Amino acid sequence: MSDLQAAFRELEAIYSDLQAELDTLRPKCELSGRCCRFTSFGHQLFVTRLELRYVMERAGPPPPGADGVCPWLKDGLCSVRDHRMLGCRIFFCDESYKEAMGPLYEKYHRRVKELHARHGVAYEYGELTPLVARSP
Ligand code: SF4
Repeated sequence: MSDLQAAFRELEAIYSDLQAELDTLRPKCELSGRCCRFTSFGHQLFVTRLELRYVMERAGPPPPGADGVCPWLKDGLCSVRDHRMLGCRIFFCDESYKEAMGPLYEKYHRRVKELHARHGVAYEYGELTPLVARSP
């Protein structure tokens, strides 16, 4: 198994640990797809290089999309749900979950960041669209 595949396995384990915590917190999602329309929703999605390589290897490069909308949003739903990035997994617009979100993000982002160094992937962290544009 290549080092990158080993990193992907560890990334999947991190996502799985996060899901276990989310199963306890149970934030609500209405599956509206609003938070994937970044400009109209008024927020940005930040990702790491390794997360992006993972989703692109498993699901392919993103199709061309509209400005300010995630290219993987299809018919109002995420087309790469099983491989989506940490920010997508942690963000919920549920008001009752808001205080938990920041600490949860820091905790899991730290683990994802650490994977880069250990598996020889240059650490890059930035907004989705420019990072996709710089992808090989
Ligand atoms: S990857 Fe999926 S969940 Fe994340 S912003 Fe894009 S469509 Fe939404």
